[in-house]
Amino acid sequence: MKPLLRAAGVPDHQLDIVPREYKTKTLAVAFDWLHDIYLSNEHDKVVKIWTSVTPEVWENYKLLGVENLTEQRLLLVASKGLIKLWKNKRPRLFINRQTEICENCEEKAVFTYKNNYKQCGYCGEIYEQESDNI
Ligand SMILES: [Zn+2]
Repeated sequence: MKPLLRAAGVPDHQLDIVPREYKTKTLAVAFDWLHDIYLSNEHDKVVKIWTSVTPEVWENYKLLGVENLTEQRLLLVASKGLIKLWKNKRPRLFINRQTEICENCEEKAVFTYKNNYKQCGYCGEIYEQESDNI
């Protein structure tokens, strides 16, 4: 599901879950939400277009700067519907920020999580880390 969501325009950092312990309920809510997206017509439409050519072909279009092919235009249109769903009531699990104590400045600060690091919103300290993929 991840490459497809990425192709539809979901930023990478929203696809990586912040590595920490979650309550069962939090995970269940997030899973239900993701499952609803998976079963949606919007997702279905993107799948049909995304799988009409191989991932390598999509990659080549990007590398060669090819734009405006029929499948690219269709993907763009279909992606809008999927992104709308993705933005609707997205569980905190898929939101890349959380408040924690920074070891560097010792402030309780909002951390922004990216693919392989997190950054303190107060002092700007960067902590590298392994990312947890879906
Ligand atoms: Zn800090």
